[in-house]
Amino acid sequence: MTSATDPIISIDHVSHYFGSGRLRKQVLYEVSARVDPGEVVILMGPSGSGKTTLLTLIGALRSTQEGSLKLLGEEMYKARNKQLVRLRRNIGYIFQAHNLLNALTARQNVQMSLDLHPNLTSKEKKTRSLEMLEAVGLLDWANYYPQELSGGQKQRVAIARALVSSPRVVLADEPTAALDKQSGRDVVEIMQRLARQRGSAVLLVTHDNRILDVADRILQMEDGRLSTVQREEVIA
Ligand code: ADP
Ligand code: MG
Repeated sequence: MTSATDPIISIDHVSHYFGSGRLRKQVLYEVSARVDPGEVVILMGPSGSGKTTLLTLIGALRSTQEGSLKLLGEEMYKARNKQLVRLRRNIGYIFQAHNLLNALTARQNVQMSLDLHPNLTSKEKKTRSLEMLEAVGLLDWANYYPQELSGGQKQRVAIARALVSSPRVVLADEPTAALDKQSGRDVVEIMQRLARQRGSAVLLVTHDNRILDVADRILQMEDGRLSTVQREEVIA
């Protein structure tokens, strides 16, 4: 187990390549970074710079090819698939394709992520799911199916699903892109509360200047290279 002060995400000289042979193309160059418990870190950068690739590596959705990448103290470079699958249970993913199940209502979609937690009764799971839907402003939509919801509403269901189990790690790829100003703020503030209260690490890819103030730090990806930037530089 990790102690309260160990980094939750620790990245050391990670490089990544797509393709092989003559088509092999490097997309990440010796990326190093860490995210500590309770921190909200925003990752910015132009399209194609490697943000999503880095997020999928941290999220144990791809294997680390080069360098060291530790999540909750566990090394993912050369990790076995079984270990990656187990690590994924600690992660709340909010990716652009929200992948809600059409056969389930909003509440059931959210509740799904609590099914990995056998110590909760089904009544408790239901209550928590409804509370989370309320937090994203969708309590009245709990019994609706995805095809009855707008794009922004579906995105908020996906956010509720990712956060309902209070994961130690939240990885969000442009979570506010489909949301209006107020809903966008609401969801990042929920993530910030989770970080503060549970000591979770939140890593957020965004182009949205309106939410930069929730970040403890801002990282910038450019052509596969990562650097730290000051908030003032981004807003100016
Ligand atoms: P961003 O999220 O910053 O827009 P990505 O991480 O999606 O950037 O992409 C970084 C680079 O890697 C881009 O040049 C993209 O075309 C390439 N890339 C992303 N995914 C793949 C893939 N599965 N196969 C080959 N190239 C990819
Ligand atoms: Mg991307």
